[in-house]
Amino acid sequence: MLDQKVEKFAKELFREYYSKIDAEMIAPPHIENREFGFGDFEKKIAYRHFGFRNAKALRDYMIGNVPPFVSYSSAEYEKPEARPMENKIWKGSELIFDLDATDLHLPCQEVHGRSWVCEICLNAVREETVRLVEDFLVPDFGFSERDISMNFSGNRGYHVHVSDSSVFVLDSRARRSITEYISGIGINPVSFFPTMGQRGTTLRGPRPADDGWGGKFAKGMISALNSGDDALANLGIERTLAKRLEKSRADIIFGISAGNWDKIKIPKKADFWANVIRNMAIKQSDSIDKNVTNDTHHLLRLPNTIHGDTGLVGRKISSVGELASFEPMGDAIIYKGKSVKIHVAKAPSLVMNGETYGPYDESDVEIPIYAALYLLLKRNAVLK
Ligand SMILES: [Zn+2]
Repeated sequence: MLDQKVEKFAKELFREYYSKIDAEMIAPPHIENREFGFGDFEKKIAYRHFGFRNAKALRDYMIGNVPPFVSYSSAEYEKPEARPMENKIWKGSELIFDLDATDLHLPCQEVHGRSWVCEICLNAVREETVRLVEDFLVPDFGFSERDISMNFSGNRGYHVHVSDSSVFVLDSRARRSITEYISGIGINPVSFFPTMGQRGTTLRGPRPADDGWGGKFAKGMISALNSGDDALANLGIERTLAKRLEKSRADIIFGISAGNWDKIKIPKKADFWANVIRNMAIKQSDSIDKNVTNDTHHLLRLPNTIHGDTGLVGRKISSVGELASFEPMGDAIIYKGKSVKIHVAKAPSLVMNGETYGPYDESDVEIPIYAALYLLLKRNAVLK
């Protein structure tokens, strides 16, 4: 349970935020067709089946009730408030992707735990989101950047929404095949190498200019070879082999550019390439029921609202260019100014707004309000 004093303190700040913003900032497109859900500090969606006629009605509700979590449906319904679900009458749904740092299984998570997030985690998940848009959604599916919107989740990742009319009516099976494609599931590497296993022939393979996974595969290998053995290791290539490949990299790159993969001498080629594909794939939640892309009735954090576990705002991000330089621990802060006295039981070091706080161990500190709020809401601290 969140401490009562902390709850009151946080809610006052949240109310101040919702009172100051323009109602349109938190209104999703076609607000009258969306279902809304609200959470308390213990449960992210404690109440659902809400509907609002317009932006003002939603903002009034936010100021009046100050729920720490606000979610809305990626789907549009005839009657969003109706229940059970089938009475809502589904019209269609955006295609959404939920990228979370914990799904990247980074080594730093072993050190700071899965509920904490560090700069390495945040940079990696931002990079993954840029890749999803630039390497998959735009080139392979042909979505226009105009129809893709993004926002910080408010905690450990990003949400990507595709509102192209062609995806609106897809059922969950079709959405699952999109997930599988970006996750590299069902891609058979042998199909990229028609001469694999044939003696006395050149190993022909994809070229960088090829469409889809083939081209991605060739481009990814060339880029990793150019970036050095760390990048090769990130593709799951074992260090000694990575070093060997790097030594003859000019030759290998020259070959791959022309579709000749003969310069890479490795045993068990099929397993090797399958592993590389897995590492080039986009990492979303491994668990099928947690995968939001496949779910046509999912409730998702409402962009530009506050995340009740951090006090950060799930900022809307207008382009991939903006995403590439987005710094959540600075750009998603909403309360600047005064400092607050707290007692921190234990916390790894926290970087916010360019300053490092902690690590803390039973420490009494006076720190800026946003850093204090973050530690309070993450349950690492109490108010003094
Ligand atoms: Zn980390």
